[in-house]
Amino acid sequence: MAFDLTRSRFFGPLIKNPLWQGTIRWFSLAALVALLVVAWGRTTLPGIADSWPLIYTNATTLIFWVLWFMGLVISVPFFGRLWCSICPLGFVTEKLGKIGLNVKWPAPPFNWLGAISIFLVGLGGALYWNVHKNPAATAIFVGLALLLAVFSGLVWRRASFCGLFCPIGLVLSIYSRFSPIYVAAKDAGKCASCDDKACTARKSRWKRWDLGPSLVIQKQMWEGGCPAALTPRSMDRSACQLCMECVRNCSRSNMAVYYGGKNSNHPFSTPALVLFVFLMGLVTLALSRTWPALRDALIPGIHPPAWVSALWLGAAVPALFIFAAPLLTHFGEKFSGKESSGPSDGSAPPRLEEGEKPLTLWERAKIAATPFAGVVFGGHTALALVKLNAKAPYAQYLVYDPFGAASYMAINVSKTLPLPQMIVPLAVLKWVAIFALALGSLAGLHETKTAWKNSLGPLGKLLGYLSFALLAVFYAALIRHWLFG
Ligand code: SF4
Ligand code: SF4
Repeated sequence: MAFDLTRSRFFGPLIKNPLWQGTIRWFSLAALVALLVVAWGRTTLPGIADSWPLIYTNATTLIFWVLWFMGLVISVPFFGRLWCSICPLGFVTEKLGKIGLNVKWPAPPFNWLGAISIFLVGLGGALYWNVHKNPAATAIFVGLALLLAVFSGLVWRRASFCGLFCPIGLVLSIYSRFSPIYVAAKDAGKCASCDDKACTARKSRWKRWDLGPSLVIQKQMWEGGCPAALTPRSMDRSACQLCMECVRNCSRSNMAVYYGGKNSNHPFSTPALVLFVFLMGLVTLALSRTWPALRDALIPGIHPPAWVSALWLGAAVPALFIFAAPLLTHFGEKFSGKESSGPSDGSAPPRLEEGEKPLTLWERAKIAATPFAGVVFGGHTALALVKLNAKAPYAQYLVYDPFGAASYMAINVSKTLPLPQMIVPLAVLKWVAIFALALGSLAGLHETKTAWKNSLGPLGKLLGYLSFALLAVFYAALIRHWLFG
């Protein structure tokens, strides 16, 4: 059962009044700039042999890679993409989009190659250049992202950085399909008969600046409309950034924020499926580091170079898991002549009727891949819980020394500060991590009922369930070896 938060005495006024959201967005932008300053030029400490002394004592590396990055994953089951409603980069691009050139977004694949490339650069940066351990490198990475948000806001319309370049938004859209919070129309019939479409309507107005007797500047400004260019009444809810604009602007008060039930049954979008392959790779690589012997046994060849291992576990194995069952069904149906049609409501495609187009392999994969997101989400949550539990306690020293050098010396050299202890004992946390993986896997298993109903044939389903079970058992074995071993 879903609860309409706009009717709540507490949440209703918060959702309808944009002031709180605007205030938090300004605050998060100020915090982002402060984090860049705190990390700028800081990498090593003179006379200290440790290669990455500031990894957990510098505010930027700790907040960006541990508290925010890991906290975001853990927050999704409860708050979905709510982060996007207060994200500083989304704020910058959206604000500048109101006064920028207002150019239309490029056509596919140019509207998503940027996000995938940034994800891969971030992944490569972490694997090979240890960006996540180095405050100065982190500041450059985040600073470049901020510059790109400024640039895209000035060039393209709406929240263009989010739509064109942000891999975090894509990851959140993949995971948030399992979250209980979403925006939807209360009555779809009202939307169908609505003539002003105020929820999505974008208004323009001319602004004039008189800068002297002979200098007058006039500029067209854009306001309102969905920053993600969605049609709220029929959108894929996992693409919604929960900005609440449509809820506030609907002239009939027909848009609401719901809590409870399932967020989205839509297939993956093309960028989400491409990114999902690498996301599964990231989680698999991170978990398999905890059991090097098993990892090495899974990689073909003896002592292969690091890039072969990364490509194998980070891309080839995930692609096998994701595409094996759709491939089997697709070619099985092609040879037997029994083809199924494209999805009617985005959840499960019916059998092919006369005149309908059969599903392409790519469309089939976009539907059939969604259940695997549950297992990957569970594995990612387990990783995030362990990291946060062990490293978040370093935050207690940030108030006194956000740069991290003094607290590193006090903890590791003079030993005048104690080494921060875990928040929850490992004996408890290991069960929480396994529980997170089990919950994610169950959510994925539940998704197979709709996603595989018509997108996979009997043999495809068999292979799908085998792959699904293999992935879940593989992650469980790694977590068991890591935390229970
Ligand atoms: S999509 Fe990315 S940049 Fe946009 S609001 Fe979400 S996290 Fe921020
Ligand atoms: S659908 Fe509504 S809440 Fe979602 S991003 Fe668009 S305007 Fe914001």
